[in-house]
Amino acid sequence: MISTEKAIELEDKFGAHNYHPLPVVLAKGEGVFVWDPEGNKYYDFLSAYSAVNQGHCHPKITEALTNQASTLCLTSRAFYNNVLGEYEQYITEYFGFDKVLPMNTGAEGVETAIKICRKWAYEKKGIPEQEAKIIVLENNFHGRTTTVISFSNDPDARKNFGPYTPGFIKIPYNDIDALQEALKDPNVAGVLAEPIQGEAGVVVPDDDYIPKMAELCRAKNVLFMADEIQTGIARTGSLLAVCGNCSCKGNCERQQSYTKPDILILGKALSGGAYPVSAVLADEHIMEVIKPGQHGSTYGGNPLACKVAISALKVVRDEKLAQNARTLGELFRSEMEKLVEKFDLFVKVRGKGLLNAVVINDTSESETAWKFCVALKDNGLLAKPTHGNIIRFAPPLVMTENQLMECVEIIKMTVLEY
Ligand code: PLP
Repeated sequence: MISTEKAIELEDKFGAHNYHPLPVVLAKGEGVFVWDPEGNKYYDFLSAYSAVNQGHCHPKITEALTNQASTLCLTSRAFYNNVLGEYEQYITEYFGFDKVLPMNTGAEGVETAIKICRKWAYEKKGIPEQEAKIIVLENNFHGRTTTVISFSNDPDARKNFGPYTPGFIKIPYNDIDALQEALKDPNVAGVLAEPIQGEAGVVVPDDDYIPKMAELCRAKNVLFMADEIQTGIARTGSLLAVCGNCSCKGNCERQQSYTKPDILILGKALSGGAYPVSAVLADEHIMEVIKPGQHGSTYGGNPLACKVAISALKVVRDEKLAQNARTLGELFRSEMEKLVEKFDLFVKVRGKGLLNAVVINDTSESETAWKFCVALKDNGLLAKPTHGNIIRFAPPLVMTENQLMECVEIIKMTVLEY
């Protein structure tokens, strides 16, 4: 097998340098563990940015993938296939929407939602053509396409990629007054929000922020679009982060405090990391604005993706991953609080379910968080800074309590050595 050194050398030489990975090469994964080519074993505490919620190479998802791969992979939507309808029924019933539009990557899902929202605004709400605006939040992360980076405020994501797509109004996150003010514009078609801002450093808004946002949108006939690509599918201790603190304790059968978005965007863990699958869900009165020829993707809705997604969603439900994320998340934060109290290196811990972050006691330009992640790697745990001084901790949701406590010990030991 190719060595760590050689694999890094090849990527460096032949690949575009659009990422800055931690110096570790992964060659195998199973559940919460990954291995490098030399056989060193690590806890994965990133889960491919929350795509691998079901754990690496989950046997049921792998089985669905391999069975379908040897039967039929791709037909394009020029023809019907015998799995897409089954998947569409499964996912719409699972999340409680009339319709789904299947895509592949997260950014494509966001683009799809924006297109549906604009078309709805012109054809249903009666906004004059070319005038529709979408409200977005400061420090958002919704992907890397030209339109999506147009409303980012991360200089690296934007600089020299202009001209930018117009039609977006940016307001501060977790600020209901700012939203109320922005919604006074009659040409607002939708609000696009992450229920918790993952890439911004796991920023959790006030409990009533998202429900109020949805309520204000409803009052103004504006579509509330929830980007749950990172927060959804059990990551934050409920099926969706918009489920909030509902009384079902993560079982999420959409009880009282569930805030139903008008448009729900999913990706990442929709396939458990086995294949790129994203989806946009909405009810009929919204989705019906899309007609043949107006949107699509060669791979969107392919039978392989559909079988994988059905299996990945079944695993989430059967293995009660939302409940596990909720319980272990509380334990993790309480253990990290102890480290915050005891050691100067950690300033605070925040998060929900198993989407958490620790703020490091240094400036956002410092190398401290990076170096601490390298030290964690040397001790057998893989995590990555989101921004200069914030480390995201997001293990697969199939983790056990004993494994989590072992990880806490690794983090503690690394702090002591640091
Ligand atoms: N939206 C959110 C909230 C994300 O976290 C991400 C990826 O991190 C995306 C969209 C983009 O997804 P993808 O990288 O699959 O295009």
